[in-house]
Amino acid sequence: MSTDPQTLEEISARTGIANRERIRQHMRWLVEHGFASRTSTGWMLTEDAFARLHSDKQEADFSLPDEVDESTHLIEGATRRITVNAYERNPEARRECIRRHGTTCCICGFDFGKTYGKSAEGYIHVHHLRPLSEIGVKYVVDPVQDLRPVCPNCHAVIHLDGECRTIEEVKHLLRRGD
Ligand SMILES: [Zn+2]
Ligand SMILES: [Zn+2]
Repeated sequence: MSTDPQTLEEISARTGIANRERIRQHMRWLVEHGFASRTSTGWMLTEDAFARLHSDKQEADFSLPDEVDESTHLIEGATRRITVNAYERNPEARRECIRRHGTTCCICGFDFGKTYGKSAEGYIHVHHLRPLSEIGVKYVVDPVQDLRPVCPNCHAVIHLDGECRTIEEVKHLLRRGD
């Protein structure tokens, strides 16, 4: 653990991640997974936590510009209010998902690197599988079980008309094309 609690500003300065909301997302995940703890003035971070934040800096500018908007689907909790979008955007959960499932769309097989070359390599959306009705207040996302890499097209179809279609349903639509 770091000897002093770190504020958002200090974490930002030390890691080079400018986006405060992104840092908050990190910290939420790091606390839930035991890499950091919350104090009254900030967070105590393990070296591991800093390492994770540093490696995220490399892909920070690669964050999703245009994620499917799910902000109307809110979970009301005693202490927090979360959108499923937050699970899909959480950079830590994203990385764990990608480490396990790769960056190829699990529905259509689209691979950004193969189609657009080096600068697009590794780009992918991450979709949260579990419907909101199954998620309780204490829910902690499991990136391997609950998240899947999907290309923006397939992701859009999953959520089209406010639905949350299953991977299988969209695969089926893709094959039929009608
Ligand atoms: Zn796809
Ligand atoms: Zn999604």
